[in-house]
Amino acid sequence: MIGQILNKASYNAIRQLVDNARNIVITCHLSPDGDAVGSTLALCRVLRHMGKYATVVTPDMVPRSLHFVPMVKDITAFTMNEARARSLVSQCDLIFCLDFNSLHRIDRLGEVFMQSSAPRILLDHHLNPENLFDVVVSYPELSSTCEVVYRVINEMGWRRFMDKLTAQYIYLGMMTDTGNFTYSSDYPEVYEILADLVSFNIDKQRIYNLAMNTFSADCLRIQGYALAEKMQLFIEDGAALITLNREELDRFNYKRGDTEGLVNKPLAIPGIQWVVFLREDPDVIKVSCRSEGDFSVSDICSRYFHGGGHKNAAGGELHCTMDEAVDEFKKVLDDIKR
Ligand code: 5GP
Ligand code: MN
Repeated sequence: MIGQILNKASYNAIRQLVDNARNIVITCHLSPDGDAVGSTLALCRVLRHMGKYATVVTPDMVPRSLHFVPMVKDITAFTMNEARARSLVSQCDLIFCLDFNSLHRIDRLGEVFMQSSAPRILLDHHLNPENLFDVVVSYPELSSTCEVVYRVINEMGWRRFMDKLTAQYIYLGMMTDTGNFTYSSDYPEVYEILADLVSFNIDKQRIYNLAMNTFSADCLRIQGYALAEKMQLFIEDGAALITLNREELDRFNYKRGDTEGLVNKPLAIPGIQWVVFLREDPDVIKVSCRSEGDFSVSDICSRYFHGGGHKNAAGGELHCTMDEAVDEFKKVLDDIKR
């Protein structure tokens, strides 16, 4: 049992900061996922119902796969509308930072925040948050930032400002961050929270279909190709590697989000305990890792790939060629053998 997540000091601090704020900006990490979008919109909606002028500002655009989410058009993406993003941040008197632990995860929006004197509240579930926040509510043992947000709403006495849509946002992130309640969800309170969300009449099956079982033809083709032609197994090491270079991505008309979920697939093979996926993005090799059980890919990503994340889902990036990135992966295999 985890029990309450807010101690007296953080409860009081949040109460005071929110009471005194009129304009509130809520943000999340680059390439927002279901948890980032769900948690920011849920908190935004509750704050609006409390009479605040709250807005979500993201470092870049929400991927198309999440455009079904209601109110996603209300989000201001820094890369799409820099002037509006800057003006919202400069006018706000409180910033909520959701689902990230370091400034580097919000890209150029980080500088904009550092220029603002507004206090910052972190609500998150990543390890080792940077020392940048006035209030830190960080619980790596919890399923998702959406769960952290739900608990904060509840413990602050704001549940009466929740409605069906808020419950659906929270459900979205809890579901996507746990692989539909497969991992990171082995404690009873997850299901107590679900019971409460279901009491708002949320459309569970529809959210699942839209968020986890909807793919474009290009997306299915690129993933089929990657598995058929580009997956290497290292059975002795319990490892799998998938690579997609620029030419291949272009050939399949790749759009952001099209490789979502691909990195999980090789874990279905008996004996494969961890997977690395290398994708050649415009100026970086994006690294995505997944593992099962005690094998920590977060350690690997912070040691070898300039990144981090969670024990079983982590990522990073490499500024080099694809061949050099593959060499780096092989170095990890060698180091683990030793
Ligand atoms: P994904 O593989 O879905 O892109 O990312 C999985 C998780 O790894 C994310 O939730 C995030 O915690 C972490 N992650 C991904 N990319 C990076 C990165 O470049 N740096 C850090 N520190 N963490 C990352
Ligand atoms: Mn998350």
